[in-house]
Amino acid sequence: MMLHIPTLLMVSVFVFCLMGLLTVHAWTRVREPALGYLGVMLLLASLGTLLIVVRGMGMDFVALILGNVVLLLSAAMNWTAMRVFVQRKPSLPGILAGPGLWLVMCLAPAFYGSMSARVTLYSLLAASYGVLSALELWRNRHTLEVAYLPALVLTLLHTGFYGVRTVIDPGLPIESEHTVGGEGVPFFSFMLFESMLYAIGIAYVTLAMVKERAELRFKAAAFSDVLTGIGNRRAFMLYGIQLLAVRARADKPVALLLCDLDRFKRLNDNFGHPMGDQALIAFSQVAREALGKHDLLARIGGEEFACLLADTDETRAIEVAERIRLAFYSLDLLAPGFLSVSIGIVTTTAANDDLSRLLSHADQALYCAKDQGRNRVQVAALPALRL
Ligand code: GH3
Ligand code: MG
Ligand code: MG
Repeated sequence: MMLHIPTLLMVSVFVFCLMGLLTVHAWTRVREPALGYLGVMLLLASLGTLLIVVRGMGMDFVALILGNVVLLLSAAMNWTAMRVFVQRKPSLPGILAGPGLWLVMCLAPAFYGSMSARVTLYSLLAASYGVLSALELWRNRHTLEVAYLPALVLTLLHTGFYGVRTVIDPGLPIESEHTVGGEGVPFFSFMLFESMLYAIGIAYVTLAMVKERAELRFKAAAFSDVLTGIGNRRAFMLYGIQLLAVRARADKPVALLLCDLDRFKRLNDNFGHPMGDQALIAFSQVAREALGKHDLLARIGGEEFACLLADTDETRAIEVAERIRLAFYSLDLLAPGFLSVSIGIVTTTAANDDLSRLLSHADQALYCAKDQGRNRVQVAALPALRL
């Protein structure tokens, strides 16, 4: 199949421009820098392609120098978009290196006059920016948390294309586009076609990655306690039910520790609210250190915390609770005796396996601990087995 180059050029200019405008619009809505750079990349691609169009109109140097500089800047913006998406700063020297090298080389008449040398250098530079873009995604794949593979595969295919072009494109003079009705430069027409597909694909997948990451961030915010950074009640109820279900299937016990800081109102009244906040943060740290990586910790009320301990029977639950109680009591944040916690414990049994019921039994045990003078650990009385 032969593709008509003048038509393809015009279509590319409009497709790049439309995609660029839409991507810039998306950037104005969410202010994600990657979308801004990607929008600029697409608009530059549109401008660069437009400059190639003028080449047939006797303004060779505009297309050869300015057109390719703009197109290389566009490739650099693509790299920058991926770079800022992985939370790195744009690199100005890196952005200018490709277009700068092109400009310098164009000063040499031997290079300027050799179509194959120009095709080789341009393809090498475009492929280099592609490799850099792919590297940004690959190196940061473990921290990205979003589906990065479509963007990586697209970038690699695009890069591979330029790599192949470096080797096999003979660099036929562009004037041949006007022979045989504009179908005289097959590789060039294929390149335009590929660039359009890449532009559409990379804009789409980057937008998808940006949206996915925004959703993950909103979800994390909705599930965490702003003051202490640990989970909140919503997180505890959701992940707690899941943890209970998984351990029940494995026939493993789970223990719930319900912790309420003692006389917290007095602490606020005597030392001020900010000191109260410090105590809450300190307690969450103490509790986190006492728990394993499969356990769940959350602040489920003002000065109330819940810990769900996986694979934990009553004996180990008491050990952990005592460790938390003593560690908190020994903190030198305030005058001795001002920091203490009471803890109610309940472990799963056949009759006591759902989270609301566990919470209610732990609450009763906690009430007993308070009643007996506070700063103590109390195990819930076993509920009667329902037959
Ligand atoms: P008890 O030993 O019986 O648990 O007494 P308490 O004073 O700890 O319990 P009470 O329910 O009377 O008071 C809890 C206090 O916790 C009241 C509230 O101002 C304080 N509180 C709740 N959330 C926060 C917070 O985010 N920061 C601070 N500083 N205080 C908080
Ligand atoms: Mg309370
Ligand atoms: Mg309290």
